[in-house]
Amino acid sequence: MTATQTSNEEIVVAIALDVLAGKGWFAEEPDDELVAALRRLYGAHPVCQLKVQFTGEVLHDMLAARPGQYLAGFYEQERQEAWERTVPTWACDCGSTFKVLPGGIPGRPDDRFYRIVEDGLLGQLVGTIRGTGITRNKACPDCRSEFATTLKRHADPQLRLFVEA
Ligand SMILES: [Zn+2]
Repeated sequence: MTATQTSNEEIVVAIALDVLAGKGWFAEEPDDELVAALRRLYGAHPVCQLKVQFTGEVLHDMLAARPGQYLAGFYEQERQEAWERTVPTWACDCGSTFKVLPGGIPGRPDDRFYRIVEDGLLGQLVGTIRGTGITRNKACPDCRSEFATTLKRHADPQLRLFVEA
């Protein structure tokens, strides 16, 4: 790696840190892990490696900062995907599996059922239960069993015994 590439990486990482700080990703100083992640993503995405050259001209400099903004975006996307993989998986009795975001919190009163896309990410929202003003499906799109009914059966040990017997 030449000196020029190193310094461009530092500039781009610094812009990304600025963007992320503005969005509240860290309070005062970024930790080493975050900086290391940005350096890794910089290396992985050529669009982040475009040369940043500031001229002092405001409009030009706003555009020149884009590689750093892309880098911040890749970081946020990676964190979002890591979070989506932690969302619990639930299996309907028909065998179809969904990712379920539990509700009952401000801004998300309803439990939300998502298809699972490859590598464990949230896919299409296929149904919701609980909450108010629900207009979406309340049943498994594959077998039409109501999510709430299946959940209730899973939660009740006596019903479960009955079903398994
Ligand atoms: Zn089903």
